[in-house]
Amino acid sequence: MARNNNIERLISVITEKGPNRVFLQIPAGLKTKLVRIMELLDEKGIDVFASLDPCYGACDLKDVEAERMGCDLLVHVGHTKFCESDRIDVVYFPWMHMNTDPVQVIGESLADLEDYRRIGIVASVNFLPVVEETEEFLKSKNFDVFVGESSSMERGQIIGCDVSSALSIEEDVDCYLYLGSGIFHPLGLGLETSKPIFRLDFEEGRIKRMDFDKFQRQRIIAVERAKDAEKFGILVSTKKCQSEPEVALSLKEMLTDLGKEAHIFTMDMVTKDKLEGLDLDCLVNAACPRIAIENRTSFGIPILNVDELQKAVENQNFNKL
Ligand code: SF4
Repeated sequence: MARNNNIERLISVITEKGPNRVFLQIPAGLKTKLVRIMELLDEKGIDVFASLDPCYGACDLKDVEAERMGCDLLVHVGHTKFCESDRIDVVYFPWMHMNTDPVQVIGESLADLEDYRRIGIVASVNFLPVVEETEEFLKSKNFDVFVGESSSMERGQIIGCDVSSALSIEEDVDCYLYLGSGIFHPLGLGLETSKPIFRLDFEEGRIKRMDFDKFQRQRIIAVERAKDAEKFGILVSTKKCQSEPEVALSLKEMLTDLGKEAHIFTMDMVTKDKLEGLDLDCLVNAACPRIAIENRTSFGIPILNVDELQKAVENQNFNKL
């Protein structure tokens, strides 16, 4: 796959679609490119309405807003396809910003993997182009290499709320090697598996073992505190592909059956300030699961994800009042 020509690829993908008016969503990290992209589309005679609202994930598809602006194409930059729209034609455009040679970094850090023979490769969207290269290199060093598949994503890809491709190879591997930056993507995997996860750190040019203990501990404490809660607030996002109203209703029913009081609250982006003043003992997050995982301690009361609450109830951690 071609590297480092994202803007040209993007313009070409858009012009091939032949739109008159484009609604553009772009993550904050790529905003420095936005005006250049708009200039190039202007030159092609295409009107552009660029959204400056946060665009954290592929789930946040602003098709209603695009339609309202009279656009005939919605371009969502930085993520792979996650959901469809029945309102407007949508293009998901993954941004492959790879400058570093993974083989060189791995080659210099192979000693960090010496205790493991069977390695599972996972990657965030922008590092997908180097999955195959990494795979071939590790094989050439006599590792057994596995790359998971998932019907909803690219080979080896994980996202913050879907690590199914990684879990599909969990039994086959001794550890995972994550290609990407930050902890957003591997944290989801770290909470699902006990296998070690290493990150290929392109900035520092080395492989590092990741540690998710803090997040595991926070989850255990939240479940423990939630057991004593009586009034639950169920949080639902109105973002297009995060909205789970039926899940919220079934949670409410489950909690009511347990003798708890439960109410459903909606908002676009779930933030602590919107919940201030509500008389609640515990929150159940039916929006992006990462809100609870990464901000667990900032809400003042325990917050559990849907699966965490369901498991706690199944394990009879929640006794009927
Ligand atoms: S729900 Fe969260 S983790 Fe999943 S795609 Fe949306 S922002 Fe990313």
